[in-house]
Amino acid sequence: MIIANWKMNTTRSEAIALAQDVRSISCRPSTKIGICPPAIWIDAVSNVLKGSPVLLGMQNCIGDPFGAQTGCINAEMAKGAGCQLVILGHSERRARFSETTEMLVPAVASVLETGNIPVFCIGETLAERDSGRAIEAVVGQLKPLLNAGLDLDGLIIAYEPVWAIGTGHSATVDDICIMHRTIRAIVDRPDALVLYGGSVSPESAGTVFSSTEVSGALVGGASLNAEKFAAIVAAWEQN
Ligand code: PEP
Repeated sequence: MIIANWKMNTTRSEAIALAQDVRSISCRPSTKIGICPPAIWIDAVSNVLKGSPVLLGMQNCIGDPFGAQTGCINAEMAKGAGCQLVILGHSERRARFSETTEMLVPAVASVLETGNIPVFCIGETLAERDSGRAIEAVVGQLKPLLNAGLDLDGLIIAYEPVWAIGTGHSATVDDICIMHRTIRAIVDRPDALVLYGGSVSPESAGTVFSSTEVSGALVGGASLNAEKFAAIVAAWEQN
């Protein structure tokens, strides 16, 4: 699965044009592509994707039911808007809005309840890696979710080392393998989908995808360019 995270990018017309280009990427039926536009363009992008196998996703949601929550969107709204995916716990939200896994448990639960797929992001900072605490940090971000007693069958995990996001420096295949293996062991699901995210580009994709531990990618910057995104999808299919 290759998922595009457009973050806070694109005007309405750019989002529509980019979605049209992504829709026209040819790939095997077994290769799942998803795009996560800004929430405000979900409806417009949903119209573009009608009848296509490309999945639509939100970049975030909260776990609360309908009610007085100014500026928030819940999982049921995401479902109603035509989404199949919801990114949760992205490091930019953990850093900027102090989101923690404990806080995100209700959001994961509510996304699963709607039948949608949470794409749960975890990853260590550079300081944590440099001090030899990368695995501890990632496991620490997963544990509260695993201890919540949810049936996490539909969950996708995205391992995204914070220091690799938007920097042009992907993690090495060895580091990715170690982390993905650890994550699968901790969640106790050998078949769990674990994506890698962090500066995946047409140049780095072949190397990242060379590991059988990698189930796909969450792509930020390169997903804003349809040709680059298509090249990443092609690299996935070549591996
Ligand atoms: C991301 O933010 O999820 C991401 C992977 O970004 P980039 O590809 O730009 O590193």
